[in-house]
Amino acid sequence: MLARQVPDLSKIVREIECSNCGAPLDFEPGETVVTCKYCGFTCVIETGESFKLQHSMLVSRLDRDAAEKAVFSWMSKGFSKPGDLSKRSEIRRSEQFLLPFWMIPISAKTTYKGVFERLGPSVVKDGKIERKYDWLVLGRQRSEFPTREYRVPLEGKIPFRFDKIPKGAQVLNSEITEAESVERARQEVEDHHRFLAKQDVDKVIEMKTDLEVGEVVYVHAPVWFLAYRYKNSDYQVILDSVTGEVLRGDIPPFEFKLFN
Ligand SMILES: [Zn+2]
Repeated sequence: MLARQVPDLSKIVREIECSNCGAPLDFEPGETVVTCKYCGFTCVIETGESFKLQHSMLVSRLDRDAAEKAVFSWMSKGFSKPGDLSKRSEIRRSEQFLLPFWMIPISAKTTYKGVFERLGPSVVKDGKIERKYDWLVLGRQRSEFPTREYRVPLEGKIPFRFDKIPKGAQVLNSEITEAESVERARQEVEDHHRFLAKQDVDKVIEMKTDLEVGEVVYVHAPVWFLAYRYKNSDYQVILDSVTGEVLRGDIPPFEFKLFN
């Protein structure tokens, strides 16, 4: 049978062993930094070498019950939600993930020249922006996670410990390398400074940004993804497992009762 002779490439890739405990490493195509399911050891797939950067984690403070409670409490607050939302919703699924983030410390200095014309005759103006960031890049290619609205609660950051992974939580591997994350962060900080410059002048003529990148940290942060059903439709809520804060929550459309 011909089909049997075709090697299954995905199988071959999967047979890489953890260099710490020898267990087979389990990962999906495209993942570049992989954490061993059995011992928590992290390695870089391309080189097979152990991960040299600091690998940190945030410890989850919300178990499933607490997460669901937090969602119901969020449902019962705020004017933009239907009044019976918490009463008539049912949680259909709740899953906790440890999401991989690259945290890139960046000092950015931008000088720019632009034309200011919104009030009277136009003038050329110089400006300077100096800021420091712990810029976050999510290590997944496709995700609906609201990275920009998310502030990593760094106070609770500890070195990655396998025994601190919550029961049932899934540790996601990074699909982008450290170098790619730094490149992405540089681009995003520069775009952000361009945005800031445009608040100050109407047209940017010249702009130069110098970036200094510090030591990158790889950090896994726990997040709950919950799905709920309200009046036959499904909605999603993303919850920070450390603070209990809703990072993004779908709200059913409001029904205006104008005619009764
Ligand atoms: Zn291992």
